Amino acid sequence: MINFNVPPYLGTEMNYVREAAEVNHKICGDGPFSRRCHTWMENRFRAEKVLLTTSGTSALEMAAVLCDLKPGDEVILPSFTFSSTATAFQAVGATLVFVDVRPDTMNLDEKKIEAAITDRTRVIVPVHYAGVACEMDTIINIARKHNLLVVEDAAQGVMSTYEGRYLGTIGTFGCYSFHETKNYSMGEGGAIVINNPEYIDRAEIIREKGTNRQRFFRGQVDKYTWVDRGSSYLQSDLNAAYLWAQLEQADKINDNRLATWQFYWNHLKPLADEGLIELAHIPTECTHNAHMFWLKCADLQERTAFIRFLKERGVQATFHYIPLHSSPAGLKFGRFNGEDEYTTKESDRLVRLPMYYGLSAADRQAVVDAVLAFFEQA
Ligand SMILES: *Cc1c(COP(=O)(O)O)cnc(C)c1O
Repeated sequence: MINFNVPPYLGTEMNYVREAAEVNHKICGDGPFSRRCHTWMENRFRAEKVLLTTSGTSALEMAAVLCDLKPGDEVILPSFTFSSTATAFQAVGATLVFVDVRPDTMNLDEKKIEAAITDRTRVIVPVHYAGVACEMDTIINIARKHNLLVVEDAAQGVMSTYEGRYLGTIGTFGCYSFHETKNYSMGEGGAIVINNPEYIDRAEIIREKGTNRQRFFRGQVDKYTWVDRGSSYLQSDLNAAYLWAQLEQADKINDNRLATWQFYWNHLKPLADEGLIELAHIPTECTHNAHMFWLKCADLQERTAFIRFLKERGVQATFHYIPLHSSPAGLKFGRFNGEDEYTTKESDRLVRLPMYYGLSAADRQAVVDAVLAFFEQA
């Protein structure tokens, strides 16, 4: 079976994990490996401040707390996303306002955002689906005009750019995931990017159980104490050591994924030209990270047959997401603004092909052959 995902593994990870335990004797949060990861991301992404977290979800939760929302405040987000985009804001009492996606990128439709803004709206959450950027110029302009914060859910967008800027560094906050299904991994983990320096102090406090421990370490206060809201959002240095091995070779991982993505694209483009499938649109101002290779079948029925066909030929393909606005919790905590023109219809026909670092040439050829065989017999 060609798996849909295999977590990235370069082989150097365990050396660093061992170093953390046996040499550094530092395995809690913010040890030497965490600092290396922070510095690397701040330099590479030209980010003001990056802090590792226990997950992409906890990075989103930190961002939601930093937005300082009151119950009833509204947050605009796509319905076509992972549940964490919603739970983070639901947890601080916000009302979720779902907006439709564009069918070509499956990203929040920037043209439908303004119609969803009310006098309770506080935040827009663009999700960079498949590591391809949302139309950020438009979104940032809307946010400025209506005085809103922007939290980029860049869980899938590490290393991708929009107009030369790294995803996660464009909004007020950016959130990355280093879950095993993402391009760079530490098992479970993530990071928050803080792009406005005014929020850095508070972010450090929220991440450290509501204490001013970071200021204490820097000698800025002579004892540390409980000062604000907070939780434990910092990950172990063991996990950071594992991630460090992958950040150190981030380009190697990125290039390898992009090669697989391009191979799929080159071989499946003829099917798209014939109108048998649809493929992702990559806007010219975007570079992506090959987080995902998706295609769209004609409808749900064809997709079901397609996934079954691939499985019989040893290829594991998957679909997602069940739109949040029609899910039990989505119905309770949010509403869909305007017409669901694409969210449900498009999510019903989207399929993702195997995509991971190190997918072999033989395996990616076998995936292409199976896809072509299905559409030849169809
Ligand atoms: C993976 C993902 C998350 C959550 O990240 P975790 O690290 O699994 O908590 C949030 N949003 C999106 C869009 C994701 O793909």
